[in-house]
Amino acid sequence: MAFLSDALSRVKPSATIAMTQKARELKKAGRDIIDLSVGEPDFDTPDNIKNAAIDAIRRGETNYPPVSGIVPLREAIAQKFKRENNLDYTPAQTIVGTGGKQILFNALMATVNAGDEVIIPRPYWVSYPEMVAICGGTSVFAETSIADGFKLTPRALEKAITPKTKWLIMNSPSNPSGAAYTEAELKALGDVLLKHPQVWILTDDMYEHLTYGDFVFRTIAEVEPRLYERTLTMNGVSKAYAMTGWRIGYAAGPLELIKAMDVLQGQQTSGACTMAQWASVEALNGPQDFVKKNKAIFQGRRDLVVSMLNQARGITCPSPEGAFYVYPSCEALIGKKTREGAVIDSDKTFCGALLEAEGVAVVFGGAFGLGPNFRISYATSEANLEEACTRIQRFTASLS
Ligand code: PLP
Repeated sequence: MAFLSDALSRVKPSATIAMTQKARELKKAGRDIIDLSVGEPDFDTPDNIKNAAIDAIRRGETNYPPVSGIVPLREAIAQKFKRENNLDYTPAQTIVGTGGKQILFNALMATVNAGDEVIIPRPYWVSYPEMVAICGGTSVFAETSIADGFKLTPRALEKAITPKTKWLIMNSPSNPSGAAYTEAELKALGDVLLKHPQVWILTDDMYEHLTYGDFVFRTIAEVEPRLYERTLTMNGVSKAYAMTGWRIGYAAGPLELIKAMDVLQGQQTSGACTMAQWASVEALNGPQDFVKKNKAIFQGRRDLVVSMLNQARGITCPSPEGAFYVYPSCEALIGKKTREGAVIDSDKTFCGALLEAEGVAVVFGGAFGLGPNFRISYATSEANLEEACTRIQRFTASLS
């Protein structure tokens, strides 16, 4: 439509939201659907956090916040980075946004000019390339492979860097693959980045608290302090504290960048919801046992899903370090036919046929830039996961 902007014409709607929507519609129409497409914890926000918001409302904390965030939250964020990541940031170097999504968007909006390149390892979270496109930048996709655990290698990074590279977007643990980088892996990437001072690093650590077994989470500015001056470390309360609907994300980085993001935010939202910020102060400063308990639950679910998927004919499922996703390959099933005679010619047709035959909603890998794979979110009950994986096993066994 001629009325719409050029910027909008560059954007695709989110494939994950589309799948969730489709699953919802089928359910409403009476189909027995198990939805494994959703990217949010299936837990309720802890009571101490809810109460902090209620108390804030009762105290009359109902006015506009300072644009970059209320002082107690910016202090809590600075303390969180020191306590958990050994990173020194002053509160002035932090910013609170309406979800991690807005932080990422504003960082790009504040810095990307037409022709600037942003390196995005694939598979990627669906929104990165779209945000880059809205800002007029060019996404340069860096390849990963299932053999490398879907992690960017120093060689692939080096290959993707050009004089026009402005940002590298890192996401560990990753949506959609669950892959998380070890200290040694980050150090090796850091060595490449040190050779290219024009490249800034935007690290999305949203799933920091969801890593399993003896994996130790690290973030790049901590591992390579020489990159501190050109790293924006982004995080949020959405996934760790089951607070997706509160819409609070945050970041810390060089003061000049934070100030630029503040200017943008001042013209967009005037700052994130005041009482949700008070709830986030409690999330960061309050007891952390909720996070530990959930971690154990998610780890059990991951192990169940990985084990059952690897027993499904033609599916290969690596066991990732974190997040609440697995990213199995369905490559061995490409070319096979369903009972109705339809040919599985891509991960997209595989996911469509699976939904049709067994009512299991998952998201096709093409949406995340790497296939033939699909993403399963295991942020649902063990009973649901067991039933869904049984159905996937039955479906793959039925292909010929
Ligand atoms: N980054 C990643 C990798 C995500 O998966 C998500 C949410 O799905 C976000 C950022 C956005 O987080 P928020 O809900 O706080 O905007």
